[in-house]
Amino acid sequence: MNLYSPKTIRQLKEKYGFRFAKGLGQNFLTDPSVPEAMVEGSGIGPEDLVIEIGPGIGVLTAAAAEAAGRVVAIEVDERLIPILGETLREYDNIEVICADVLKTDLAQLIGDQIRQHGITGQVRIIGNLPYYITTPIIMKLLEDELPVSSITVMMQKEVADRIEAGPGSKAYGAISVAVQYYCRVSRIVSVPKEVFLPSPKVDSAVLLLELREQKAAEVKDEARFFACVKAGFGQRRKTLVNALSGAGNLPKDLVRQVLEAAGIEENRRAETLSIEEFAKIADQLTSREGA
Ligand code: SAM
Repeated sequence: MNLYSPKTIRQLKEKYGFRFAKGLGQNFLTDPSVPEAMVEGSGIGPEDLVIEIGPGIGVLTAAAAEAAGRVVAIEVDERLIPILGETLREYDNIEVICADVLKTDLAQLIGDQIRQHGITGQVRIIGNLPYYITTPIIMKLLEDELPVSSITVMMQKEVADRIEAGPGSKAYGAISVAVQYYCRVSRIVSVPKEVFLPSPKVDSAVLLLELREQKAAEVKDEARFFACVKAGFGQRRKTLVNALSGAGNLPKDLVRQVLEAAGIEENRRAETLSIEEFAKIADQLTSREGA
């Protein structure tokens, strides 16, 4: 069965009485080169455990199962479960779980899989993400500090641009700092909207997020670091002294002292700061705690 053929997708829809749920971000891939590039780019090996988010009718699941030791696919739409039963029936190394990934305890799932199936390789996450929850999914994967070595995910091109952006560019923002704090980011492939059924309104891109062994900056208090990033970008047109004092509800004098001690000019804007500079500001605030 050629799962990439629009004809097959239409036949499956008819057989199972399935209709695309727009609210679940259901845009299915019709170009085999994209899953191939994702599997190759993420470096999946024969001992690896792959966790897939949102298998749809299973194109990426099947491609991953060809390369991995084991694949666990998490799909929220129960109407797709019998379809996946048919499309993936020739694979004995795939398990499909019907669940909302945002409500799934992934640390527990991974731990159970490693124990029960004697996984000796890496744990990797892949997915053509449902676009309505791309950022919450990525942040959950990172903040849960899962024992994974890479996350290879497709998303709207515009979100990929923001995640990849560096200081000084318009696209640079809180999501760039947050993801780059945890990961090295690279683009695997750009994907035009025409290769999906149904076709979404925007183009997509696949990013490879390789988890760093050590975060991009050392911070004394991560919560404060992220609060500074949020405050800085919350009012990105304002100077740092105004943005940090306004959003953080801090006296301007204290913010001025902190910036001076961190060696950062008070009239700079958040979009010019590197991750290390945000870390310096956060650490200065932490060391003045209670002051
Ligand atoms: N992987 C398939 C492909 O590339 O053709 C489908 C990708 S489609 C963009 C996103 C998939 O994620 C859909 O199958 C959708 O039902 C599923 N999905 C949406 N929200 C989800 C959630 N909260 N948890 C798990 N899966 C979800």
